[in-house]
Amino acid sequence: MAQQIKVIRGMHDILPEHINVWHQLEDSYRQLVESYGYRQIRTPIIEKTSLFRRSIGEVTDIVEKEMYSFDDRNGDSLSLRPEGTASVVRAGIEHGLLVNQQQRLWYNGAMFRHERPQKGRYRQFYQLGAETFGMPGADIEAELILMAARFWQTLGLQGIELQLNTLGTAESRANYKDILVTFLRDHQDQLDADSLRRLDSNPLRILDSKNADMQPLIESAPRLKDHLDQQSQEHFAELLEILDHAGLPYVVNPRLVRGLDYYSHSVFEWVTETLGAQGTVCAGGRYDSLVEQLGGKPTFAAGFAMGIERLVAMIIDQQQEKDSQAPHIYFVMVGENTVKVGHKIAEQLRDALPELRLITHAGGGSFKSQMKKADKSMAAMALILGENEIETSTVNIKFLRQDKAQLEVSQDQLATQLKQLLNS
Ligand code: ATP
Ligand code: MG
Repeated sequence: MAQQIKVIRGMHDILPEHINVWHQLEDSYRQLVESYGYRQIRTPIIEKTSLFRRSIGEVTDIVEKEMYSFDDRNGDSLSLRPEGTASVVRAGIEHGLLVNQQQRLWYNGAMFRHERPQKGRYRQFYQLGAETFGMPGADIEAELILMAARFWQTLGLQGIELQLNTLGTAESRANYKDILVTFLRDHQDQLDADSLRRLDSNPLRILDSKNADMQPLIESAPRLKDHLDQQSQEHFAELLEILDHAGLPYVVNPRLVRGLDYYSHSVFEWVTETLGAQGTVCAGGRYDSLVEQLGGKPTFAAGFAMGIERLVAMIIDQQQEKDSQAPHIYFVMVGENTVKVGHKIAEQLRDALPELRLITHAGGGSFKSQMKKADKSMAAMALILGENEIETSTVNIKFLRQDKAQLEVSQDQLATQLKQLLNS
């Protein structure tokens, strides 16, 4: 038999089993962003390597170690795109979409980075993105953020936290850079090799280091926020004000600097704890200097990109949870009169909570043997009714899958209590 050829390491097939989730995600995204007035742009998967070198920055992980670059047959250095923004800007300049105009654009496509593959981190992965041009204010940044928030809502995804920071204007950042470099030089012995190299070329990136040993030093470094000029402060304050007014919760994370060189003013990430180490599902910010850097006229710009694989994983996890037919409650009844009273309580609960999956024990037996059955049923809780409980008109709730203290609840309050527990 001929030797089998397998998929390239870090790349993956998307099988029919999960394609519905991909469609759901892509369809919802398109519908959502188009309702905000964004129009799609599609660019080639391959670009000149210089495009990414000039936009993302020479001293970034992406350009230094992660790009799939190769010489084509003419000897030109080309790269598979590691992200979408540079290509959109290139196309925008090339086709005259940016000068004296406002644009709201979106894209969907494969990106390539030669990273160490792990769960949620692949060498070919897909991003949904949005880019806006020609709008200088915090209002468009707020729009992007609110649009992403609405996307999580549409998908029914919960527990995604918004983290925000500001990098300020180029001038105030330059000023801060000097202060940071002075601090880091004073602690040079604590810097790892990557950071030492970045000390001259791109010191801000040191704050973005993922090396755990570096964290105490980073924690004690001077903060950008304390060195911003008034314009930078005001811009960020306005963004927070719009978000506050819209009732959108966020966390200001002063250490959020983003991996790419082209950001200024607001930067943000949406982070979840449910995916393990690869918890950032969406990231973006303002990048006013990029268009000029790539040969266009100075143009205001802001956008974001989200990783489809990570969102798909979240949706699948949540669906599995939802699909699970495990009962919420196994009702244990031991002792005189408990079966009669218990069935009455059970029916009342079913009336009050139509979604409730409740198994009432049948066939008698000891407390221990009933509890064994409760555990085996995979129920989240055991409801316990014994003679003591009959006397005090209470029921005990024992949590079978969580490390939580047993609860004694009055029978009158049981439905209300359970409703809260099921929703929490
Ligand atoms: P990370 O900190 O996870 O490496 P990043 O800052 O490199 O992310 P961006 O370049 O901002 O990521 O890309 C935007 C989003 O694309 C990320 O938040 C993530 O959801 C997704 N993404 C980035 N790299 C990968 C990858 N290698 N595999 C899967 N998804 C990715
Ligand atoms: Mg990365």
